[in-house]
Amino acid sequence: MAEIRNCPSCDGIFNYTGLRDVCPLCAREEEEIYDKVHKFLRRRENRSATVERIVQETGVSTRLLFTWVRKGHLHPAKFPNLCYPCDNCGNLITSGKICDKCTNHLKKDLDIVEAAEDTIVRNETYMAHGKMRNEIKSNS
Ligand SMILES: [Zn+2]
Ligand SMILES: [Zn+2]
Repeated sequence: MAEIRNCPSCDGIFNYTGLRDVCPLCAREEEEIYDKVHKFLRRRENRSATVERIVQETGVSTRLLFTWVRKGHLHPAKFPNLCYPCDNCGNLITSGKICDKCTNHLKKDLDIVEAAEDTIVRNETYMAHGKMRNEIKSNS
C-alpha cells in the first residue's frame, strides 16, 4: 500500500511504495550519480581511490557512497579503499555492521549477561533443592 513519506534527501513529499527510500526525482539523481561513481571506479587507476577522492571527483555525497558500500553495490573487496561507518561508533570499517572494537565490547557484554544468567539458574536450582529437603524433613 502506498504511503506518503518525506524524502530524506530533498525533504519533498512522495508516494512510498516500498521500492525506494527517496522520491522518484532523487532516485533518478542517485542512479545517475551511481553510474558516474561506477564508471570512475571502473578505471584501473581509480580502483584504490579513497572515499574523499571519489566524493571530490564525482560529486557524490559521502552518505550516499556509504549506503552503496554498506548495501554491497560497491564492494570493498574490489575497491580496497572503500569503507563505511560502524553502526555503533562511526569508525570506518570495510565489512560487517560494526567495527572490531564494538564487536569485542558487545561480546564482553554478552559474556556478562550469560554469566549473570548462569548464576540465576544455579540459585534457582539450589533453592529448589533446599525446598525439597525441607519438605522431606517436615514429612518425616
Ligand atoms: Zn527527494
Ligand atoms: Zn564501532
